[in-house]
Amino acid sequence: MKILVINSGSSSIKYQLYRMPDQQVIAKGLLEKIGEEISFFNQKSQKGTLELRKQISTHEQGIMFILEMLADREQGVIASVKEISGIGHRVVHGGEEFTASVLITPEVVAKIQQYADLAPLHNPPNLMGITACTKSLPQAIQVAAFDTAFHHSLPPHAYLYALPYGLYKKFGIRRYGFHGTSHRYVSKRLAAILNRPIEELNVITCHLGNGCSMAAVEKGLSVDTSMGLTPLEGLVMGTRSGDIDPAIVFYLVDKGYAPADINRLLNKQSGLLGISEISNDMRNLIEARDKGDERARIAIEIFCYRLRKYIGSYLAVLGRTDAVIFTGGIGENNAMIRWECLKGLRELGIEMDETLNAQAVKGAEAKVSSAASKTGVFVIPTNEELQIANDTYEITHRLVKVQED
Ligand code: ADP
Repeated sequence: MKILVINSGSSSIKYQLYRMPDQQVIAKGLLEKIGEEISFFNQKSQKGTLELRKQISTHEQGIMFILEMLADREQGVIASVKEISGIGHRVVHGGEEFTASVLITPEVVAKIQQYADLAPLHNPPNLMGITACTKSLPQAIQVAAFDTAFHHSLPPHAYLYALPYGLYKKFGIRRYGFHGTSHRYVSKRLAAILNRPIEELNVITCHLGNGCSMAAVEKGLSVDTSMGLTPLEGLVMGTRSGDIDPAIVFYLVDKGYAPADINRLLNKQSGLLGISEISNDMRNLIEARDKGDERARIAIEIFCYRLRKYIGSYLAVLGRTDAVIFTGGIGENNAMIRWECLKGLRELGIEMDETLNAQAVKGAEAKVSSAASKTGVFVIPTNEELQIANDTYEITHRLVKVQED
């Protein structure tokens, strides 16, 4: 069975075509700059890398083009798009409604539309991808995998803000959490690596990419997470501030800033970029710091310090912690950041092994804590696409079987 995974953003569509259940990636690609004068397309498969430039004005055209390329006589990897049985879509916000990946129905589409209010930059382009696929491949089963779903198990004391309760009832203002597909994938991988049931394990997962978030995962269920109503809360990120005193917003209003400017400031101009005024990319900051740049140094220090604070609070939330997992571009690739975040925590049960940590190979799973460490520390590359493919395959397989029976 072929399963296509789609991540449809505001001006780009990322995709991977899987053969299931053996989880083989047959092709993966990216269409960028949709709606601009020239769009960039690339597709990687056994046939090599295909790079094209073409004008693609809409997501619908984009999806049609991707399907054409997948089934292209010379460069394609399938004989016909009819071979695609299921399509899994990444959807950012599923509100309180969606606790797992679901079959997309008109009711589901309406709900995703409703939650666009909470994720105005993400849900509308996610929906454009869904609508385009429904038009281009009406016979395929479509599934939505929500970034918020894994965190549905947060208890009220973790998801409610100490605001007037009416705001939760009226507007749904609460912690939802994001990166759920990643937190879920790496915690499941850890159970597989340790060959232990996930129901026995308590883990702290750290997803450190452009966006950064952590989760306290108790017996396979997320019980707390650092992102909130939106992905702005929590850790320091590339361009997002993470936790701040909300009164800063009113202070800035008094100083003449408009709400839209403050929104941009907190989401696009803060975090590593804001402090360093150099870059939002951790690699550039490390380079600058190593050349003596003081602001790069403090930006990295604040990043690691905030993470340590969350480690401390999640150790207390979980009581007993079996493992800390690092994932995402920074978490997977940077030994120094992992070290800075967790060094000196032996009294709390976490002892990194400096050599193992430095030796962790890019793209591979590794244990980087010492043998004596009560809490293991692991690097586990995330694979959100595979998690979405698995969910989509499960739902598609079940429905196809029902149809056959
Ligand atoms: P996204 O959150 O968009 O999925 P990734 O998880 O791929 O992104 O993370 C991208 C970020 O990872 C980059 O902005 C960069 O800062 C960081 N990164 C990648 N490789 C390294 C590295 N070797 N050292 C430090 N940071 C890295």
